[in-house]
Amino acid sequence: MGDPACWLDQLCPDCAAMLDAPEPGAISVTCWRCGATVHFGDEGPRVTNRKK
Ligand SMILES: [Zn+2]
Repeated sequence: MGDPACWLDQLCPDCAAMLDAPEPGAISVTCWRCGATVHFGDEGPRVTNRKK
């Protein structure tokens, strides 16, 4: 099953939607639910651009 922290890394910080895995080499994805741009940094996912 694995450590919950694994998939917690893949949740949108804003709306907790399960994000698609970023393309290899990509460091950010757009949340399919709320439209936020989520940047995957060393400290985990972070919203860098929030759609109103
Ligand atoms: Zn979201």
